[in-house]
Amino acid sequence: MSNELEVVLFPCLSDNYGILIHDNASGETVSIDTPEVDKIEAACSERKWNLTQIWNTHHHADHTGGNLDLKKKFGTKIYGPGIVKGRIPGLSNPLFGEETFKLGTHDVHVLSTPGHTLDHIIYYVPDAMSAFVGDTLFALGCGRLFEGSKEDMYNSLKKISSFPDETKLYCAHEYTLSNAEFALTVEPSNNDLKKYIIKAKKLRADGLPTVPTTVDSEKKCNPFVRAVSATRLGEIRAAKDIF
Ligand code: ZN
Ligand code: FE
Repeated sequence: MSNELEVVLFPCLSDNYGILIHDNASGETVSIDTPEVDKIEAACSERKWNLTQIWNTHHHADHTGGNLDLKKKFGTKIYGPGIVKGRIPGLSNPLFGEETFKLGTHDVHVLSTPGHTLDHIIYYVPDAMSAFVGDTLFALGCGRLFEGSKEDMYNSLKKISSFPDETKLYCAHEYTLSNAEFALTVEPSNNDLKKYIIKAKKLRADGLPTVPTTVDSEKKCNPFVRAVSATRLGEIRAAKDIF
């Protein structure tokens, strides 16, 4: 019991999520990305957790903007993509994808998921049955292709959808309802999608996050995960960009 990982999620900025992972046994606390320093600090101090690690998913400012302040205050270690030098402020533990490190006694698998950016990585923690997927996959959507190709994103989504069905996927933004409108134009008669949307609308109406989603629901409902080829994914992504 005491060796269980606790994950908390809280809104930051206009539509980002802050996420903390706490390992009670080792006392380690991780912030996934650093969208908003004050919110992250408050979430830690409310629980009397000491922020010891930051795991960055990619270099965009809404994901790394709080790195230096938090590092200065807490002496936090910063894990993140090392593939493009100088992009991650305060980076102390560069990662290159397809490696494993430990949080306390728990394995953390790093996977490179280019597409949204070339440096994008995600963190899969089997003991928490959770993956922290940044801006690669969103509930019912995927990140815009700013740097990578449709082939990159297709392969990256395949990595995520190959995790066990019950795996929780923590995305970095609350985009679900707007993604839902687009998803319905791709698969208007997908009943799983319709049910998913009813649930998501209810959550939002109650002021609750739709994140985390799961591998299972995304395989059933997310048009980008369901795309049968990189070419098809590219078509859907282009249509979404102008939706
Ligand atoms: Zn981004
Ligand atoms: Fe973002």
